This record gives sequence, structure tokens and C-alpha cells, in this order.
Amino acid sequence: MFDLKARLQKARDGFVSPLKQVFQRKPKLSLEDEERVEELLIGSDMGVEACDRIMEAIKNRKDLGDYQEFLRKEFMDLLAADDVESGELPTPRAVIVIGVNGVGKTTSIAKLAHYYRQHGKKVILAAADTFRAAAREQLGCWAERAGVEMIGHEQGGDPAAVAFDACTAAKSRGADYVIIDTAGRLHTRVNLMEELKKIRRVCEKVLGPGAVDAYLVLDATLGQNSLQQAREFARSLDTDGIILTKLDSTAKGGIVIAVRQTLGIPVRFIGVGEGLDDFAPFSPSEFVDALLS
Ligand code: GDP
Repeated sequence: MFDLKARLQKARDGFVSPLKQVFQRKPKLSLEDEERVEELLIGSDMGVEACDRIMEAIKNRKDLGDYQEFLRKEFMDLLAADDVESGELPTPRAVIVIGVNGVGKTTSIAKLAHYYRQHGKKVILAAADTFRAAAREQLGCWAERAGVEMIGHEQGGDPAAVAFDACTAAKSRGADYVIIDTAGRLHTRVNLMEELKKIRRVCEKVLGPGAVDAYLVLDATLGQNSLQQAREFARSLDTDGIILTKLDSTAKGGIVIAVRQTLGIPVRFIGVGEGLDDFAPFSPSEFVDALLS
């Protein structure tokens, strides 16, 4: 298991350290300090709403006491809903992975497959991005690396048919998870959004309505653009969780809070590097501790 604190070094340096410097050895912040804190919080990409909540808490306190404890509590309050563990769900389950090109979707699919395998689960990958020529080969390479089977059709085929075959195969072969790669299309293309809905319908038909999740992959380095992408996707397709990638590459760790606050969709997994193991379920307490300690 990687050291989360080390992986979040950029965010620690870029956001948390300057924040700590303002707070250090001060029972009460000056007006100037407050402005600086506000600037840092906004700059961290956590969003105006979350920033306002923290600023209000600062203003309402006579004495900040242990500022580290104060910040921990505020961050945790903003993230708390994610801490609920959903326990083991009946399988087979399908996980439809959506998101625009370049955010780390393919890598995240491989990491997720690897993660489930490490936990003793049997995984099948479905190459339902039949739109982009290299998508199937790329996923195939990752499938090999992660040691899982992949099901795919010819380029230009019906993505929902690939999902159907993979879900049917999962049932007959006793697999636990079908992880479905989808085209990294632009969310504004209505017909392609319809295609995602069709994939979901097909999976639900084969495995049952409660056995399908759609995870949206977002790139933490894209900040507010990520949130805009997410809103567009969530408007068209029920989104059950977020996979937040490249947290190792951003100096703005607040994006985790913004996702939770403005989208109301839980972050399920985080990516903190390019390797198969650079991936973990998201735990708010571990995240906040690694950020602040
Ligand atoms: P896709 O187009 O969305 O499928 O994106 P890819 O999976 O091909 O990834 C795009 C780039 O992002 C690749 O260079 C990956 O190695 C890189 N990448 C993916 N996830 C992470 C991550 O968590 N951290 C870092 N640093 N790079 C990542």
C-alpha cells in the first residue's frame, strides 16, 4: 500500500502548508489573515460554498484553539457522507465506467480490476468503447497486465451488445465484476449519452436493476472543469460514484470537497499515480489526515 501522505505532497505544499502558516500560533486571525485563508481555500478548488462554511466557522470562534483539529473537523464535516461503507454486495455486478478522454479512464478500469482481483474477486473487462480504434487494444494490454479476461467486438459495433455479452459471460462463468469501458465522448453529444443509457439498461436486464453502478472518472487536475463535466454527465445518466484520478498531480486537494459538496455524488476511489497499485477506495478520514498531518 502506498503512502497517501507522500502522494498528496503537491496538495500539501500548494494548499495546506500555506494555510497552516497563516494559522500558526494565532488564537484569532486578523482581517488580513482571514482574507488570505479565504484566498487559499478558494484556490484549492473546494468551491465557494465549502469555503463560505469554513470562513463562517472561523468568524464564529473566539479562539481557534488547535487549528489543525479545527481544520480537520471542518474538512470532515464537508466530506462526512462518504464515510459510510457499503459492505459486500451480491455479485455479479456491472460497473460502467464513463468520462471524457484523457482523464485516466482506461488506467482506472485496470486499477479497479486489479483491486477487485486482489480482494479475491473474478473480473471481466468489457471493451464497449467501439468508437475509438485503439481503445480495445489499449484495454486489452491492461487486461493482460491485471490478469483478467476481456470481452470485445469489432470497431464500430454496438457497445450495448458488448456489455450484454460481458454480463452474460459473467453470469455463466461465475465472475463477480464486469467492468465496462465506454467511449470517452463529449457529454454534449446527445446520441452518445443515449448509448450510455442503453448500456445501463442492458446490464440491468441481464444482472438485475440493483446490480449496476455507473462510475464517473474525473481528473483532479482539471478543477472546476471537472465539475462542469460531471454535471453534464449526471444530468443524462444516473451516476453512483466518482473515481477521482491524478490526486498526486494536483496542488489543489480541495477538489475532493467540491465534488462532494456541489455534485452530491460520493467519491468512491482515488487514483494517485500511473501504476496498478496507485489506487484505493476513498476514505475521508484517511484523506484528511494525510492532507493535514
Ligand atoms: P483515458 O483517455 O481517460 O482512458 O486516459 P488514460 O487511462 O489513457 O490516462 C491518461 C494519462 O493519465 C496516462 O498517461 C495515465 O498514465 C495518466 N494517469 C491516469 N491516472 C493517473 C493518476 O492517478 N495519477 C497520475 N499521475 N497519472 C494518471
